[in-house]
Amino acid sequence: ARLKEGLTKTRDNIVRGIDSVFSGFSAIDDDFYEELEEILIMGDIGVNATTAIVERLKQQVKEKHIKEPSECKQLLIESIKEQMQVDETAYDFEKEQSVIMVIGVNGVGKTTSVGKLAGKLKDEGRKVLIAAADTFRAAAGDQLAEWASRADVPMIGGKEGADPASVVFDAVNAAKARGVDVLLIDTAGRLHNKKNLMEELRKMNRIIDKEFPNAHRENLIVLDGTTGQNALVQAREFGEVADLTGIILTKMDGTAKGGIAVAIQSELKVPVKYIGVGETIEDLQKFNSEEFVNALFD
Ligand code: GDP
Repeated sequence: ARLKEGLTKTRDNIVRGIDSVFSGFSAIDDDFYEELEEILIMGDIGVNATTAIVERLKQQVKEKHIKEPSECKQLLIESIKEQMQVDETAYDFEKEQSVIMVIGVNGVGKTTSVGKLAGKLKDEGRKVLIAAADTFRAAAGDQLAEWASRADVPMIGGKEGADPASVVFDAVNAAKARGVDVLLIDTAGRLHNKKNLMEELRKMNRIIDKEFPNAHRENLIVLDGTTGQNALVQAREFGEVADLTGIILTKMDGTAKGGIAVAIQSELKVPVKYIGVGETIEDLQKFNSEEFVNALFD
């Protein structure tokens, strides 16, 4: 119910549009498909994914000799689900000792997501430690400390300007010594010095490789769902320096273009693991394509 509620704007936009196409056309013709494509693209599903979704639909309509537009709806839903298929096998980091590095540009919701995730994992009975490796902005550390106390989880940080890699070094060793289940690392997202940022991420990854070779690893990129196709560009850039294992897609409550989740999984082949649908701890939800599409069309 919370998922459905969080996706209200997208539901109103995409699904209402689609329904009006299904009820507005009496025959399945080129205009019908064109209209459908337009709505999917407007909903940020992206040109490539939309083309593939509609092509698959056309094929099914032909094979199944479907004549009524209304009969296409279920086929469209299935086609969208198929378009979102990615390998979700690396999904069980809650079960092992793991290090989760959270990356992304400033403002996308990194710190908030780390805080929410810490609270969530703690509620699930996991021993969590947070590392504040965004030493570039003093405010980032303070904001994270607030989330840590809200989630009742310890945090390790560094002074403003400290080497983020040294914070990671300390945090990893503390995690090992304390028998922590999940170490969550919040990182800096400044983009005006991209080369340094990327170098810093590489360095942090190397330290974890070296200090904690047996840990299960996740590099989660946080993308702002309201920034549309820009989010794809960011993911590709970060993907060049870090092996992305998953995506946290935030601010889905604030957009009518939640179709971006379809574009992301379809284009990047990286699973969206969580979506943010608000600003409180409960507003981070585990993501699953099947549930997502069902919640949209339900
Ligand atoms: P960071 O710079 O990437 O660490 O971003 P922050 O965590 O500071 O978040 C930036 C703003 O986005 C804050 O005002 C958050 O409350 C807000 N925010 C983060 N996630 C969500 C979400 O899922 N929904 C909404 N509505 N706001 C969010």
